[in-house]
Amino acid sequence: MTAQAETHGFQTEARQLLKLMIHSLYSNREIFLRELISNASDAIDKLRFRSIAEPDLVAAGEEFTITIRFDKDAKTVSVEDNGIGMTREESIEQLGTIAKSGTAEFLSQLTGDQQKDAHLIGQFGVGFYSAFIVADEVEVFTRAAGSGQGTRWVSGGEDDFTVEDADTGRGTRVVLHLREDALDFADSFRLRNLVRKYSDHIAVPVRMPKEASAEDDDDEAGGEAQSELETVNEAKALWTRSRSEVSDDEYKSFYRHISHDFDDPLAWSHNRVEGKLEYTSLLYLPKRAPFDLWNRETPRGLKLYVQRVFIMDDAEQFLPLYLRWVKGVVDSSELPLNISREILQEDQRVSRIRTALTKRVLSRLATMADKEPDDYQGFWDQFGEVLKEGAGEDFANREQLLKLYRFASTAGEDGARNVSLEQYAGRMVDGQDSIYYLVADTHANAAASPHLEAFRDKGIEVLLLSDRIDEWFMSHLSEFDGKSFQDVMRADLKMPGESKDESQEDEEKEDDDPLTGRIKGVLAERVEGVRKSNRLTDSPACLVLGQFAMGAQMRRIMEATGQEMPDSKPIFEYNAAHPLLQRLNDEADEDRFADLVMVLFEHASLAEGGGLTDVPAYVGRINRLLLELLSD
Ligand code: ADP
Ligand code: MG
Repeated sequence: MTAQAETHGFQTEARQLLKLMIHSLYSNREIFLRELISNASDAIDKLRFRSIAEPDLVAAGEEFTITIRFDKDAKTVSVEDNGIGMTREESIEQLGTIAKSGTAEFLSQLTGDQQKDAHLIGQFGVGFYSAFIVADEVEVFTRAAGSGQGTRWVSGGEDDFTVEDADTGRGTRVVLHLREDALDFADSFRLRNLVRKYSDHIAVPVRMPKEASAEDDDDEAGGEAQSELETVNEAKALWTRSRSEVSDDEYKSFYRHISHDFDDPLAWSHNRVEGKLEYTSLLYLPKRAPFDLWNRETPRGLKLYVQRVFIMDDAEQFLPLYLRWVKGVVDSSELPLNISREILQEDQRVSRIRTALTKRVLSRLATMADKEPDDYQGFWDQFGEVLKEGAGEDFANREQLLKLYRFASTAGEDGARNVSLEQYAGRMVDGQDSIYYLVADTHANAAASPHLEAFRDKGIEVLLLSDRIDEWFMSHLSEFDGKSFQDVMRADLKMPGESKDESQEDEEKEDDDPLTGRIKGVLAERVEGVRKSNRLTDSPACLVLGQFAMGAQMRRIMEATGQEMPDSKPIFEYNAAHPLLQRLNDEADEDRFADLVMVLFEHASLAEGGGLTDVPAYVGRINRLLLELLSD
């Protein structure tokens, strides 16, 4: 160690991640090369971008390249770039900590099951630390563009790392001292294959020493050949090629490069647009939702290039928020190279590209739903909930979105969310002009709701919703194909064949029923009203929401955000034909009558997934009733 050497501990999360990664990614070891090349290519992109404003940072005519070397005897593999490099402080900061938000939460999701964890870590993005899967010591020689001082960073990947001054060229060289079980990576054939597999279509050339021919035992010539380099990847940005020239495997490999995903993409859409607004886009739909899909702070968006020059990652202005999981590249020939995030936000051209890309994604999904329904179902199970956000965010594409939504339903297999509105409409019964739905906190509660009884009885399908955002979601759907949406828990429910007037009449009639009056007397302030039900067949009673009252789900969400919600009272509907109600009608003892009515009310509330407001009082009532039952 030199005088300037200092040792630092890794950030706690970084230390945890290092350990887990080495443990769980053994069978995916080879991705270290993809990650190091990706960092090298990022570093070159950054310098290329900076040199637009500061041309002196790069020598005239200098070519940007990535070089991979190996040494079987020394047991090393190195990846070198002439990109932006790091200062000493930057190497401490960037290689010693994980800047990603949500890291702690991510770590807490890991299970210890190697396969599951490998997948999660893949989604998280393993990055630089993947070097330690194959190396027991990693050295990084780096010098920042424009700086005269180089740095050597070294670590065994356990608790700490050491930095010291070092002589080195601009850019970064990562030297891996291979673990005994990873020596097979110090091999020309292996490395070339990996470069082609993962990094063929990055825009930067990746070079390796030329292979000495096998018979060539002339020492001198052999030495020469070792030092001569050749390009081993395609080195042409994939999206700039025409669609017909690019194979599926190439598209997949490029996806892995930009997404760091372990899996293949589900689908992609590659388009060049010419004319008034020129740009190329390559959009990928992943197979699985990222672990941080619901974290609104997570960076998201496309990689933005302007005339092939990388401008920025995570350009979120090119897609609406509900499509934040789409990965890809947009390359525009019209935006200025010095465009900033702030300007992107206001630029008319950007918003026109965004409109077009949104349509592209939706139409790709529509094609999938049509032609590859199994793939689409897989997609919906992963991303359906986030696509529902579009109902409230994207009115322009309302029609397309409605066709993409899928639901669980009383007519479908239990719990499967695979019914489209088109299918539903095709199964509507004579006289039905609404699409019926019910929202509950779980699918099981939805499927068991008393509100469904009359619908089951009449063979009318009801959509069952139980995602966290469903009440909000349904409130944004106004109609599909001329049919309105009707919440079956609402007071204004109208069954097919029933006119509005009829249900009105019903309400009035109920008022003079003596039983209705007696029940009202007990429930009093707890309810908005009491009436005889036409929606129950098996259950004795249920609670109905006022037409404009806030549902239980929305109420819980609002309360969770700390907002005070005004009380909204339900309407108590009872099933006059039910034996319990008939028994109740004959009950002369007013105390017992009150106990029974309260229990019916409380059970109806439980069936909605609501709670009991006064558990001891409830238990007291049940105990009294049991005692009377036993002593009768
Ligand atoms: P990510 O690439 O997702 O940011 P990594 O773990 O791969 O995460 O890298 C962490 C950081 O280390 C990078 O963001 C970058 O700042 C720095 N870094 C890594 N490799 C290089 C390199 N070859 N040149 C310059 N900086 C690098
Ligand atoms: Mg990286």
